[in-house]
Formats: sequence, structure tokens, C-alpha cells
Amino acid sequence: MKYFKILPLFAFIVLSTSCSEAKTKKGAQTNNQTDSEIRVSSDFVQQKISDNLYILKHKNYNTNTGVFIGAESVLLIDPMSGNNNQQALLNAIKQLSGKPIKYVVNTHSHMDHSGANGFFKQLGATIISHENTKYSKAMYDVTFKDSYTLDMGNETVELYHSIAHTFDDVMVHFENNNTLFMGDTFMTNSFPHFYYGGGSKGHLEFIDKALALGDTNTIIIPAHGTLSSNKKALTEYKEHSIKWINRIKQLHSEGKSSEDMADDAQINQLSLFFNNGKSISKQSIQRTLDKTISVDLVASVIVPENILKSYEGTYHYDNGQVDEIIYQNGQLLFRSKGRYIYEIVSLSETKFHVNGQFPNKYLIFKNNGDAFEFFNGKETIVAKKQS
Ligand SMILES: [Zn+2]
Repeated sequence: MKYFKILPLFAFIVLSTSCSEAKTKKGAQTNNQTDSEIRVSSDFVQQKISDNLYILKHKNYNTNTGVFIGAESVLLIDPMSGNNNQQALLNAIKQLSGKPIKYVVNTHSHMDHSGANGFFKQLGATIISHENTKYSKAMYDVTFKDSYTLDMGNETVELYHSIAHTFDDVMVHFENNNTLFMGDTFMTNSFPHFYYGGGSKGHLEFIDKALALGDTNTIIIPAHGTLSSNKKALTEYKEHSIKWINRIKQLHSEGKSSEDMADDAQINQLSLFFNNGKSISKQSIQRTLDKTISVDLVASVIVPENILKSYEGTYHYDNGQVDEIIYQNGQLLFRSKGRYIYEIVSLSETKFHVNGQFPNKYLIFKNNGDAFEFFNGKETIVAKKQS
């Protein structure tokens, strides 16, 4: 007997569409500088957190880049992309410290955070990322599983992994500086983006983990939006995230489509909150709702564990690409080195929804898992299991 349930809230990464909403708000922040935020060149604004910790933001890239000056070397967080800006970023860093750039830490693999990894690696930096980064296009040197500690001589930097915005999220805590980098799990100018990874459950767990670190004065660095924020704003963001998730769930249970939802008064109110008072097009709201529904609210069927496990293996496409299906924590993961990682959820014993994806992508297993058909949004391609 089959019965339906609402799925646990996990998902995937899509690098090609990473943070596109956030990236389109180029330069918005530069018109809204805070007292401690100063323009240091024609290209950059900067905020000093302490004598050792600074936030830089390029006028054309909304990503906040952290610059930490250790006893003997410099650590960067999320050097943003843009080939033309990497030298400008280096120049801005050199104005803060002449020490060598020894480490680059990525809060996740999306290119607007990791795009300059190669540039700084060439200058001698070691890139530190979560191990799931290998299922992305980002460059990395050192990976870790749950947590990682860096001793910078004058500061202990703790890295913590969670699955929230993506499968490779890292929260970065500077203990002495009482500062926490949130990556894209906290943006002050965009909707909650939890559909590349952990769904709403992962999103809220990540925020709770952040709120439990430090104290009431802990400085919170969002990846996009303002250069810095605080626990009070993060708490408010969490409360609005819960309202957002619950409202979508409610409207979905009433049978409303994402198009209907995008006209809902409460959804629009929350949209204004998340987008810093800026009115967002119905199309953009709807796109976010579609992805949120895809990661959180797809009704799935229960499939016996032995059937799920029978799909595990390495699958080869005619073009040479290789995908893996693995069974982990009661769920199937669909992943490809250097490309993507998704959770897939059962629509039947053979058909699987690719979580968080819009437009819908799906997999259909054939002959007890000897092969699958993958509809990638454009075409259906077949991969055969390697025996
Ligand atoms: Zn991102």
C-alpha cells in the first residue's frame, strides 16, 4: 500500500543559477552606507570590524568578502568572482596588510563566493572548503567534513558545516573578534535561498546554530546586503523565515499554485521585508516560490529501503559523464563530481523528483536500476549502471 507524506526537507546545488537574485542587485548597498562603512577606492566600500578584520564589497558585486589579518598571514572569506575585479580586490587587500594571503575560506561553492579562488591560489593561498565542494565547479585544496579549526596566531577561526543554502555550507566563527560569517543563509536583501541544499529545515537549523554561538553582541556578516549585521536582525530574519515557510505551506495545502501565491498579501508583505523594502516582480516571487515548493513540499511515496538501495551505483552516459546514486540517511543522493549534488525523492518506486529544481527535473530507473533516464529540464538522457 502506498501512502503520501510531506518529505523531509533536503535538496541540492545548482551552480549555474547560484544566487542570481542576489547578484542582480548590483551596487544597491553602496547607496546605503552605514556610519562605519567607508569608500576606500572607486571600486570598493569597506567596513572595519576590528584592527584585524575588515569587510570589502565591490561596487559591481554584492558579495561581502572578509579580510582577516593574522599574526603572520592573511585569511580571506569568499573572494568574489569577476575576472576584471580580482586585481582590484588584491589592491584593496594590500591597502589593509602587506602580509601574504595564506588561506581562502569559502562559505559555499557558488561562484559569486569562490570565483577568485584560482587567482589567490596562484598567489600561494590554500583554499579551504567543505568536502561536498567536489560536487561543484569551485576550486579547492583542503576539505573537511564537520568542522575545522585555523590558528591564525592572534585568533582562532572555527569552520562549521551544515546543509542549508547548499550541500557545502560553512559558517565561519572568529572567536576573539566575536564575528560570524553566515554565507547565503543570511542575506539582508533577498528571499531565504534554501532550495539548493537543506530546505527550510536546514535553513532554520543553520540560523539556530548561529544564534547559539557567541553572545548578544556577536557581529553577524551576511553574504549579501549590508556589510554587517547583528543577532537582533538575525533573530528577526529567522522569525520572518518561519512566517514565509508557514504561509507557503498553508497556501500549498489549500491547493494554491505559485502564481496564486505570488498575489497573496502576506507573501507580498514578507517579500518587502526580505528585499529591504524593494518591490519585487511577480515573476521573481513566483520563481522563488516554485523552488521553495520543489525542495519542501513535493508529496512523495514511501519506497522500501531495499528498493532504494538497489539503485545505488555508478552510472555512465554515452558522452562519458558519470553520475553516482548513493543512499544516505534514508534518502537517495544524485551527484556528479565537478558538477552537482541533489537529493532525489520518490514519486513512485521508479520515478524520482530532483529536489529544489525548477523547471522540474526527474529520474526514472529502468530494469531494477540497470539504467536511468534523466530529464535534465531540456532533454532526456540515459545512463547505464557500471556492473
Ligand atoms: Zn549561494
